[in-house]
Amino acid sequence: MPKNIQVTPRKFRVFTEKNLEKIPQLDRFSTEQVLAMKAVAQVLPFRVNDYVIDELIDWNRVPDDPMFQLTFPQAGMLREGELNSMISLLKRGADRERIKSEARRIQLTLNPHPAGQKELNVPQFEGQQVAGMQHKYRETVLFFPSAGQVCHTYCTYCFRWPQFVGLDDMKFAAKEADGMVAYLKKHPEVNSVLLTGGDPMVMKTKILRRYIEPLLTADLDHIISIRIGTKALAYWPQRFVSDDDSDDLMALFDEVHSAGRNLALMAHYSHPVELSTPAAQAAVERVRNAGATIRCQAPLIRHVNDNADVWASMWKRQITLGAVPYYMFVERDTGPRHYFEVPLARAYNIFTDAYRRVSGLGRTCRGPSMSATPGKVLIEGVSEIHGQKIFVLKFIQGRNPEWANQVFFAKYDETARWLDDLKPAFGQTWPWQEELQEMMQTGRSGEWNTDSHMRKRLSKHGHVEFAQMNG
Ligand SMILES: *Cc1c(COP(=O)(O)O)cnc(C)c1O
Repeated sequence: MPKNIQVTPRKFRVFTEKNLEKIPQLDRFSTEQVLAMKAVAQVLPFRVNDYVIDELIDWNRVPDDPMFQLTFPQAGMLREGELNSMISLLKRGADRERIKSEARRIQLTLNPHPAGQKELNVPQFEGQQVAGMQHKYRETVLFFPSAGQVCHTYCTYCFRWPQFVGLDDMKFAAKEADGMVAYLKKHPEVNSVLLTGGDPMVMKTKILRRYIEPLLTADLDHIISIRIGTKALAYWPQRFVSDDDSDDLMALFDEVHSAGRNLALMAHYSHPVELSTPAAQAAVERVRNAGATIRCQAPLIRHVNDNADVWASMWKRQITLGAVPYYMFVERDTGPRHYFEVPLARAYNIFTDAYRRVSGLGRTCRGPSMSATPGKVLIEGVSEIHGQKIFVLKFIQGRNPEWANQVFFAKYDETARWLDDLKPAFGQTWPWQEELQEMMQTGRSGEWNTDSHMRKRLSKHGHVEFAQMNG
């Protein structure tokens, strides 16, 4: 990448379901088609900015264009009856309340709260739930800053969609860093903080600074990395290059580096085209020059990136630019998943095919991985043991840290799309099942729960004794 690449500044402009029909490029669709988009956008989040519209979508290829599928509502995302009922409400000019209540009814059929996120992951501090945090895996705390709970553009497949349609009350997001800092001081087992959303990069640098600077103090030196989950490198690279406070942002990244910590942007890239524009490439270059690292992750999505060519070429572009391929996820069991889902067997084949086409520098990507209730579960392979075809599965993260890097087996099933669809091979239950049930029943997510006796047991012996959790 040439260093002196010219990026023309842009002014951020955004469209939502309220003014979708004003997007000039939608002229090529019929009134009926635009109405169907508008109907879907009453139920699922829609928000798209001018950079995505002008530079990432290939309008000669719509509706099949992957970036169009990624960002614009598609009729197939709703069941036919529900789509039609919403269209007819819009046609007869039903009032806002009527439309909203029908939208709610449909939203609640779309499994808005998978993987026990609400029940199990919110940590306690002195008997209170800590606002805006999730602590599922021992080493990493997720933090949701209140000002970072939107995105520059919404992805149609987003698993966090309920918060963008007002189904989840995001008042639980944290206004201040205080709670996080107090919690982290008591939790030396945590070494990574992941700011997430939404997209924390929608915040102005001076707001973002309020969350990051308190983490750089000496008494939090167990926090070795600060991560920011973001799609801004793809959807609004100007954030890093030509926005008013881009230089200040680079100075902030540099401060983290100078404080001896790693700032990692966990960049959500779904398709290689997102890495193709001058602005996108300049953004990666600037972030790296500020001493930060970029690790790339995305789910595997039908209509968007469900072929090996796309992944191999995306990983190659990432390597070229000095960004590191990290995770390929399986689409979660929420929202319009019927439209996007790829069966696990096929996902495994796509991953393997792409993996074979890159050097070891691209094989840092792990996947396909499911962020399921017990942990992050990888489809490690397909094999045959004693004449039975099986999936070899592996925990890359576990609600119990002892599960990490352990394999277990499921009966091979060509149509299974998620962990819940699989059946254990060679046994009646999963090896982790009983323990997970115990966690669900007691509401205890792990030994870092300050209020549980597990915590005390951990500090007394200095190591985790999960085997005793059931006893
Ligand atoms: C994926 C994830 C993390 C981060 O996991 P890494 O493997 O460290 O990238 C942390 N918390 C939750 C809840 C996650 O789903």
